[in-house]
Amino acid sequence: MIPQANPGAGYRALKTEIDAAVARALDSGWYILGTEIRAFEAEFAAWLGVSNAIGCGNGTDAIALALRGLGIGPGCTVVTVSHTAVATVAAIEMTGATPLLIDIDPVFYTMDPAALEAVLRGPPAGLPPVKAVVPVHLYGQPADLDRIVPLCRSHGVALIEDCAQAHGARLHGQRVGTFGDAATFSFYPTKNLGALGDGGAVATNDPALAEKIGALRQYGWHKHYISEEVGVNSRLDEIQAAILRAKLPHLDGQNARRRDIAAAFGAALTASPLAPPRQRDDTAHVFHLYVTRSAQRDRLQAALREAGVGSGIHYPVPVHLQPAYTGRIALGPGGCPQTEAAAKEILSLPIYPELTNTDIETICGALRSLRNG
Ligand SMILES: *Cc1c(COP(=O)(O)O)cnc(C)c1O
Repeated sequence: MIPQANPGAGYRALKTEIDAAVARALDSGWYILGTEIRAFEAEFAAWLGVSNAIGCGNGTDAIALALRGLGIGPGCTVVTVSHTAVATVAAIEMTGATPLLIDIDPVFYTMDPAALEAVLRGPPAGLPPVKAVVPVHLYGQPADLDRIVPLCRSHGVALIEDCAQAHGARLHGQRVGTFGDAATFSFYPTKNLGALGDGGAVATNDPALAEKIGALRQYGWHKHYISEEVGVNSRLDEIQAAILRAKLPHLDGQNARRRDIAAAFGAALTASPLAPPRQRDDTAHVFHLYVTRSAQRDRLQAALREAGVGSGIHYPVPVHLQPAYTGRIALGPGGCPQTEAAAKEILSLPIYPELTNTDIETICGALRSLRNG
């Protein structure tokens, strides 16, 4: 079975470089906030095109730290989508802020700007004022920032891009993660830039915000042992930073390989009962996930499994319908019908740079033999 994701293959493909990086970190005798993380933060910021990157424990903490750094917490509403990893919403609640979940557009699966405009003009009664918006560049595709950025600016709310699935994606040639007040990344092993454990980062062009987030990630220390504000412990460790330094130079090439694989799948899906994903104009999608769609999803998933092709569903249950959230989470006017419809029909095919040409032929063959039921 070709698995939908394969982080072990990602390690083996760069084993020599990663093993050397781990050995270097181990030999250094310094394991938390040392030379590796300082170097990674500088290299990642330069690669992205921002002044500062701050490593932290994971992508969820990155969102919470970015929000807290921007002064968002209790008494604030933060708008995001229900069609995302639960992490996005969990991070907002970690800060004490109130999440408000809005719908996606049905073609690109990212935040619906019309729904955003509606809640910025008139937020649902009983909620605190909206202070921040967290669009998610889901599946590796830039959200509609052409409309979202001006809406945030004109309403005076902070914009934090959730780039956990979109390292290297571009809109009009500009990398996502450089459009908002801050951007957050996850280095979970299956992400486009993945550590071999947990990791995350916040990126910003505001050095003062970077300084604040750097303190918040470690007990609010600006100077050692003196907490000037209440912080948390969320640090990217030296071993993970060293691994990420080894992998970063390969990221752009790996994203190009993902795009080539996506093009092959797209060709195999012409006239298929499984609809291929659509790309927003003038974007470079990085295909963290290759998400197809069909009303016959479950039957087609079983047929692919028969043919030795694994798949996944991202995500099967919208956040607002999950047991921990349903009934208490605030939704935009009209709820999230597009999110609910998508959750029933989406199917993620295997996509990662280490898929062999034989794997790709196997997958394309299986896709071409899918029939309407
Ligand atoms: C993975 C992910 C996160 C959270 O990252 P972790 O490192 O697992 O905490 C947040 N948002 C999105 C969209 C993600 O895919």
